[in-house]
Amino acid sequence: MEKASTKRGNSLSEVRVHEVIEVRHLTDTAYVLRMTKGSMDFIPGQYISIGKVASIDKRDYSIYSSPNDEYLEVLIKEVADGMVSKSLRNMKPGEPIEVEGPFGFFQLKPDTLNERKHLFIASGTGISPFHSMVTSFPELNYHLIHGVRYGADAYEKSMYQSNRITVCSSRDGKGDYYGRVTDWLKENPIDQSTYCYLCGNSDMINDAFDILEAQGVPSEHIHAEVYF
Ligand SMILES: Cc1cc2nc3c(=O)[nH]c(=O)nc-3n(C[C@H](O)[C@H](O)[C@H](O)COP(=O)(O)OP(=O)(O)OC[C@H]3O[C@@H](n4cnc5c(N)ncnc54)[C@H](O)[C@@H]3O)c2cc1C
Repeated sequence: MEKASTKRGNSLSEVRVHEVIEVRHLTDTAYVLRMTKGSMDFIPGQYISIGKVASIDKRDYSIYSSPNDEYLEVLIKEVADGMVSKSLRNMKPGEPIEVEGPFGFFQLKPDTLNERKHLFIASGTGISPFHSMVTSFPELNYHLIHGVRYGADAYEKSMYQSNRITVCSSRDGKGDYYGRVTDWLKENPIDQSTYCYLCGNSDMINDAFDILEAQGVPSEHIHAEVYF
């Protein structure tokens, strides 16, 4: 399994100042922060490091928007007692924000983009890089499994083709499947030729990896981005 988040690569990155355009509130604890794009060039799946100007506290966020968009977006969930995830929610249009990146190698293989089946497995805001991939490559053959606690946390579900997304809600029956993504995986064995991408918390990623490997998916076809 390739764990992408451990590498910042060799990219020589500078800190740039962008401007907040808007904060789109999705739930009580999750929001999309839209910024000016500036000269940012990135590949769907990469992440940026952002923070308030002159603050030493910067955090990594996967890019939610597509390179084709005229703006730059990240999807953020407020972490209880978290320093940065809560404070960015209060940013106002026009406020400057420091952006560094893009970083990371959590990307689709360009040569097999339209041939392969892709399985995307996300927990919580781990859906963010998949949103960027899906909106960037409309022909992509994918199935997105989104693990959430409650059905209401299925962020902007209507943006995906309905037959390509399965929301697994573990604490209420308001998703498409009542249970964890790992339960869904056990009940729905994956075709071994599928390219699998996992993103979110490390517990989910490790468990999902073991299940996929036991189902015969070669480890070189499994890629992961660990958030925490
Ligand atoms: C490559 C990468 C990409 C990331 N992309 C995203 C993204 O797109 N959206 C997003 O919301 N977060 C993302 N994160 C997590 C993000 O960088 C921060 O860790 C998170 O926002 C918490 O920052 P904080 O300053 O509020 O909390 P801190 O003051 O840093 O404290 C956070 C504590 O909460 C834990 N924690 C971090 N994230 C979560 C979480 N989601 N749920 C529960 N506990 C958590 C940390 O392990 C730590 O113990 C990403 C992390 C990495 C490494």
